[in-house]
Amino acid sequence: MAAEDSIRVVCRFRPLNDSEEKAGSKFIVKFPSGGDENCISIGGKVYLFDKVFKPNASQEKVYNEAAKSIVSDVLCGYNGTIFAYGQTSSGKTHTMEGVIGDQSKQGIIPRIVNDIFNHIYGMEENLEFHIKVSYFEIYMDKIRDLLDVSKVNLSVHEDKNRVPFVKGATERFVSSPDEVFEVIEEGKSNRHIAVTNMNEHSSRSHSVFLINVKQENLENEKKLSGKLYLVDLAGSEKVSKTGAEGTVLDEAKNINKSLSALGNVISALADGNKTHIPYRDSKLTRILQESLGGNARTTIIICCSPASFNESETKSTLDFGRRAKTIKNVVQVNEELTAEEWKRRYEKEKDKVGRLKGKLEKLELELSRWRGGETVNLEEQVNLQEPVEASTPVAPVQEVPKVEGLPQPATPGGGIMVGSLSNEERQKLEEERERLYQQLDEKDEEINQQSQYVEKLKEQMLEQEELIASTRRDYELLQQEMNRITQENESAKEEVKEVLQALEELAVNYDQKSQEADTKSKENENLAEELMNKQSALNSTSSELQQLKDMSSHQRKRITEMLTNLLKDLSEIGLAIGGEGEIKVPADSNGKLEEEFTVARLYISKMKSEVKNLVQRCQGLESYQTDSNKKISEYEKDLAECRLLVSQHEARMKSLQESMRETENKKRTLEEELDALREECAKMKAAEQMHAASSREKAEEKEKANTMRVALEQQMDQLRDVHQKQVAQLRDEISEKQALMNQVKDENQKYTLAHQQLQQDYEKLKQEEMEKSQKLQELMLTVERREQARKDLKGLEDTVAKELQTLHNLRKLFVQDLQARIKKSVSAEDDEDGGSIAQKQKISFLENNLDQLTKVHKQLVRDNADLRCELPKLEKRLRATMERVKALETALKEAKEGAMRDRKRYQYEVDRIKEAVRQKNLARRGPSAQIAKPIRAGQHHVGFAQGMKIPPTPIITGSANRTLGDDEMRKRKVIS
Ligand code: ADP
Ligand code: MG
Repeated sequence: MAAEDSIRVVCRFRPLNDSEEKAGSKFIVKFPSGGDENCISIGGKVYLFDKVFKPNASQEKVYNEAAKSIVSDVLCGYNGTIFAYGQTSSGKTHTMEGVIGDQSKQGIIPRIVNDIFNHIYGMEENLEFHIKVSYFEIYMDKIRDLLDVSKVNLSVHEDKNRVPFVKGATERFVSSPDEVFEVIEEGKSNRHIAVTNMNEHSSRSHSVFLINVKQENLENEKKLSGKLYLVDLAGSEKVSKTGAEGTVLDEAKNINKSLSALGNVISALADGNKTHIPYRDSKLTRILQESLGGNARTTIIICCSPASFNESETKSTLDFGRRAKTIKNVVQVNEELTAEEWKRRYEKEKDKVGRLKGKLEKLELELSRWRGGETVNLEEQVNLQEPVEASTPVAPVQEVPKVEGLPQPATPGGGIMVGSLSNEERQKLEEERERLYQQLDEKDEEINQQSQYVEKLKEQMLEQEELIASTRRDYELLQQEMNRITQENESAKEEVKEVLQALEELAVNYDQKSQEADTKSKENENLAEELMNKQSALNSTSSELQQLKDMSSHQRKRITEMLTNLLKDLSEIGLAIGGEGEIKVPADSNGKLEEEFTVARLYISKMKSEVKNLVQRCQGLESYQTDSNKKISEYEKDLAECRLLVSQHEARMKSLQESMRETENKKRTLEEELDALREECAKMKAAEQMHAASSREKAEEKEKANTMRVALEQQMDQLRDVHQKQVAQLRDEISEKQALMNQVKDENQKYTLAHQQLQQDYEKLKQEEMEKSQKLQELMLTVERREQARKDLKGLEDTVAKELQTLHNLRKLFVQDLQARIKKSVSAEDDEDGGSIAQKQKISFLENNLDQLTKVHKQLVRDNADLRCELPKLEKRLRATMERVKALETALKEAKEGAMRDRKRYQYEVDRIKEAVRQKNLARRGPSAQIAKPIRAGQHHVGFAQGMKIPPTPIITGSANRTLGDDEMRKRKVIS
């Protein structure tokens, strides 16, 4: 059933595109009219192909005339290949894929997919189909699975029939066109994810879509299989070694490698004499091994641009096509034979071998006869032309292993080189090659595994990089924190500076204050002296006060004595008056009356003298009082005594007032007596009148009595007037005394107030004094400290002075030494005068040096002193700074610790998240059973495109990912 079949080459020109038109490119291709549309001419050169499509050819037309037939071939058990060749943007992808889902713009792949399923649905009922698809791309001679991004470098192996296949490529079982399109979509999106510039990438990589159709006739168990490769090649233009953007030289080489290998393979195949076809030069040619010169129906679609700009590329493309057209394939149905069939064929072969053996024996016999010198006549000779078999049996599909590169009996050009090598040698060589190829495959596999490992590592790398990025971010944050802290530190330093300045100011202030304190202490001393003086004055005044007290007590005694005397006198007067008052005027005798009057007069004169005495005494008292007043004014501070005195005075005043009252009472009694006397007088008058009425005789007496009475009345009136005058005088005196008393009282109050004030002042002064003494003590303390510091300084100065002294001594010694040396030299040179002048000059120079040195030394000493002055300030400043720095350091430490803690926490968090992610991934990838769901042809699949006919019967088995070589469904475990 094997048949020779040339590769079909069709050519498609796309229309001029916008940029070509803008650039003014011309349409340089001519399509000769009429005929089979299989010829074009460019620049006078004519090319013949199986078909030529003009720019206006529709996608449908291209499909129908270039690809449709392949569908039925594949379904009949043949292998098929369609690949598009041409420069970038010549329309390869447009032709192969087009716009999937768009009825008019979709390309060959979607049309084929739809057609395959339509065919299946229209086929016999007892056929079961298993359709699986793979999708991968070849870039830089690495096969990358587009359905599993982790497979980045798949290897090519050979199956038991020596047919190369991509080992480990993901296979998806599909049961409807939509599932296929989903797979294509998935593959395309994966392709997009992996690359940055899709246009560049697609022009440099080959994409391969593989449809594998297996069918089984459930009735006679006949099994057929067909593989269909649909390949969108990389741009055929040369990738210039320097011009390829973003690629280094190796890359550029690799990009070109597979296409040039393809060209080489095609050239080798076209040149019928070549015995070795370099399929193994690239993965692409390896995969297409069956398609080029092997068991496959192959169609190459040459895509070209018609623009003058692309002329050379177009021509080389067309040349490629022309060369490929000469290649012959040997196609046969891929059939898996049943045991019976195999048996039948075995029997046949056995017969054939037997017959050949017989023939060989005959020939050997003939040969021995010939060798024996016999001539075998023509009839006896074995007929070599006679065929061994009557009919050539169909070679079982993959029975005879086909060694690539080695011509097989069926292939053209076979048997040419047999002569040169012996069979044994050939065998050896073949075995050697076989071994080598196996090794190669093993290495390939190793590479594949390594690359997968590399991919995993890359993923890990990415994770790590992310981690690093995040840690870097953290680090930056920490850095910022640090910066902040350092800034704070700076500001703190500035603060410290300010504080130091303030301290300096304070120190200056302190100096001023201490000076002030000195002055104050001096003042204080003065004040203390004054205070002492005051104290002594106070003591003297207090002693005076004591004296005054004594004096005043003495005075008081005297006053009391005088008062008692006065009171005695007054009581005597009172007794005397009371005693006289008892005398009653006899109403009958005039003589008695006169006597009584004289007595009264006497009494009155006595009273007058008494009163005069009293007045005198009063005057004396007054003088006394004025004296005491004076004394009070004099002894202002002795106020308590004065108060006592005043109270005594008051008491005396009271007693005086009482006595006054008594005298008044007495005066009243006197007046009453006078009134009584007057009544008596009136009575006597009435008696006189009675007398006159009774007797005229008595008239004379009456007249006498009247004259007497008149004289008496006159006397009485006079007495009364005098008396009244005296009383008024007494009253005036008393009021005066009262006023005086008031005055004294007021003054007394004043004095008490003044005394209190003085007391308060005294207290205040005492307090002030206390405060001052405290201050004094403080100042003393500071002074002591200063003294201490001064002593320390003195010690320092002493040491410095000592050092200076030693230095001075040293200098002296040095000078002496120098002089001695000079003398020596002089004495030595006395004999020879020549060098003395030079020596003198030297000495003067040295002296100058010494002077300068001493100056410098002095300067240094001064500087030292200055610095010593500066020292305490600086020390203070240093201490403050040290403290500040310590505080800042602790703050910094704390901040660092915090940062460390944050970091640890963050690390822990990251670990946790990582762990969680890993767990999740494990859970997602975990073991899952995927079971194929066999679908009978004709039973409409749920996902099947609507509007399609439901044909009867064949079966399509649909399932998810499977890997080549797995015939059974099995659980797929992913080890993460
Ligand atoms: P390639 O895959 O060879 O690099 P593309 O298939 O991407 O080129 O084609 C480049 C551009 O030219 C695309 O925009 C495509 O639509 C357009 N194009 C290609 N062939 C045709 C054609 N026969 N008719 C119309 N437009 C075409
Ligand atoms: Mg493309």
